[in-house]
Amino acid sequence: MTQTTSAHHGDGGEPPAARFDAVVRAAAGRGLLGEGSPVAGFIDTEGVRASVGALHDAFAATPGVLHTFAAKACSLVPVLRLLADCGMGCEVASPGELRLALEAGFPASRIVLDSPAKTREEIRLALALGVAVNADSLDELRRVDALRAPGTASVLGLRVNPQVGGGSIGPMSTATDTSKFGVALRDPGAREAIVEAFRERPWLTRLHAHVGSQGCPLDLIAAGVAQTYELAEEINATPGVRRVTSLDIGGGLPVNFADETVRPTYPEYVAALTAAAPGLFSGRYSLVTEFGRSLLAKNGFIGARVEYTKDAGGRRIALTHAGAQTATRTVLMPDAWPLRIGAFGPDGAPKGGPPLAQDVAGPCCFAGDVVAYGRELPELAEGDLVVLYDTGAYYFSTPWAYNSLPRPAVYGFRAVPGRGDGPGHGRQVTFVTVRDAQSLDEIAAESGLAHADALIDGAAERGG
Ligand SMILES: *Cc1c(COP(=O)(O)O)cnc(C)c1O
Repeated sequence: MTQTTSAHHGDGGEPPAARFDAVVRAAAGRGLLGEGSPVAGFIDTEGVRASVGALHDAFAATPGVLHTFAAKACSLVPVLRLLADCGMGCEVASPGELRLALEAGFPASRIVLDSPAKTREEIRLALALGVAVNADSLDELRRVDALRAPGTASVLGLRVNPQVGGGSIGPMSTATDTSKFGVALRDPGAREAIVEAFRERPWLTRLHAHVGSQGCPLDLIAAGVAQTYELAEEINATPGVRRVTSLDIGGGLPVNFADETVRPTYPEYVAALTAAAPGLFSGRYSLVTEFGRSLLAKNGFIGARVEYTKDAGGRRIALTHAGAQTATRTVLMPDAWPLRIGAFGPDGAPKGGPPLAQDVAGPCCFAGDVVAYGRELPELAEGDLVVLYDTGAYYFSTPWAYNSLPRPAVYGFRAVPGRGDGPGHGRQVTFVTVRDAQSLDEIAAESGLAHADALIDGAAERGG
């Protein structure tokens, strides 16, 4: 995927709508989607590389930027390893994500720890490893004081909340007045306390802000970064407090879920930052970014089988295997997270026919388990496949264990042009397994099978 106005990459001439058609057909043909494997996630390996390339290119004029991938956006070890191989660092926010980043091969010097509620043990481990740590509050900074050994390799920073306001999705907006993240910069006394915190700590050298994610317009993000930059300038202008050497400007570039187009692009992001904070790229500060959704969303999709269709109250409903367990946000907040859906036959060929308004529902036992209401699609039938586009970030990689439904399998794919005729037909598609589907044994094990007797009277005496 290129970061131009056209989202599809590669072999030219093909309409964007067909970007993944050959992949869906190949997945159906090889049984990765079908009766025995009714839902799976798919990742476009070359697309990920192209998106990372576009990010690096956009910052090419500024040497030494550390671009990290926000692990929560696609917390799968092979994906993280691919990103490490592309030259990314990794932003982690829990001990589990830190473990995944290390398993993926990121060197500690390219990992940034941003957990909002770090335990002492978590801080201790990060400092021992030399992972960068952004304290989320002044209290957390005091914990770092107590745990830090002189000469730690960790770059240490403080997260601020520039309080520039929210975007269109409340839960995605981290820079509102009352956000739980960072030190609230505009609260009375906060600026002075932050300057003082830096004055007291010669080892505190980084300011961090992450203004928000999906729904936050570029100028809001840029305003938050500008506030952070100006704070760094103020700290460094304070006599004896020339401390801040790097700025971690977060991530959060929104993704266009309405069509294939990539917008905003990374060059547009850099242009917005340059307009809001010209000094940011002066070279006085080394920069860290933390992108997730914008790198992965358009490079992945979910495929799911239609198990049944029915009519209810004059409405057509397709019951598929993609519901809240894999499209959690869309199901729980359908207005904030609409997804494009494609209709394919059992063989993975795109369906034709006149559009019919249909609900596309999932397999979970609650009435709201619907990924799209009244969507105009060719009439779906048992055995057909639906594709949920733009789900490479925060969807199949972030499953929900509701109804003990298994985590779906995830496959990486490469689609290289072949010699066939017609759009999409000549592609040679190869798949690799990124994650196996969860088995029933694994579901039982993680549901306390080893302690099956624990609540039965007398279990303690029996040693249960
Ligand atoms: C989630 C998160 C990101 C990445 O956000 P995206 O919207 O996926 O780009 C970056 N930084 C922090 C601190 C985050 O919590």
